[in-house]
Amino acid sequence: KLSLRGVVKRFGENTVCDGIDLEVEEGQMVCLIGASGAGKSTVLRCVNLLEPIEDGEIFLDGVDISVPGLNPQPVRRRIGMVFQSYNLFPHMTAMENVMLAPRRVYGKSREELRPEIAELFTRFGLADRMEHYPDQLSGGQQQRVAIVRALAMKPEVMLFDEITSALDPQLVGEVLDVLRLLKESGMTMVLATHEMGFAREAADKVCFLKDGRILEEGSPETLFGAPKHPETKEFLARSL
Ligand code: ATP
Ligand code: MG
Repeated sequence: KLSLRGVVKRFGENTVCDGIDLEVEEGQMVCLIGASGAGKSTVLRCVNLLEPIEDGEIFLDGVDISVPGLNPQPVRRRIGMVFQSYNLFPHMTAMENVMLAPRRVYGKSREELRPEIAELFTRFGLADRMEHYPDQLSGGQQQRVAIVRALAMKPEVMLFDEITSALDPQLVGEVLDVLRLLKESGMTMVLATHEMGFAREAADKVCFLKDGRILEEGSPETLFGAPKHPETKEFLARSL
């Protein structure tokens, strides 16, 4: 379970997270929506301790992970993150890309890792792509490899930042299918997304961000079907 309490993040004068309260229960998929610059990516980056916060707390299973001076590395192992740009190493096969972090961090051998990683590849429809290099893979396949790479660290929570934004429209579906599978497997997930259709269909909770605040949150039925806040209505009208 992940909890944000009054999280404040500033860049100079600019308050980008202005008191974010967010509860993500185990196994839930929570979608953050909102206009460009609303603060969606920054919220995710704060959770993954890529940005220090000015105020508030972030709890992972009841433990405050936002205390200053805490070593971020063990926390980042428990919280996987996937970005819009998949950033696979071009000179390594998909398998080598995925093995890299668990080899370094957990000191495991290739032989030890191969069966469990092969299983992940297979689960996400990449069984015949493990030994390919990134430039031999489609954008959707590369993004799925990036997801497998994050999962290979066995995270408890996964954060996804606009992971379909850079993909050709016909490749978006295969990446969203991976998210559906992950949700079925019980993974706890937070997504920043512009895919309103997907959020509506798959999320347990949707949060609408505006100027670093969660203006409105609720079930997809309520938030999309009967938004209360005028700004939510306006945003949704523009996004559909
Ligand atoms: P998008 O939909 O375009 O991805 P977003 O909701 O993810 O937008 P953020 O990337 O979180 O928005 O940015 C929120 C605000 O924080 C923006 O005004 C942005 O310019 C600012 N910001 C983000 N990162 C930094 C940084 N490293 N330094 C200064 N300002 C930043
Ligand atoms: Mg963003």
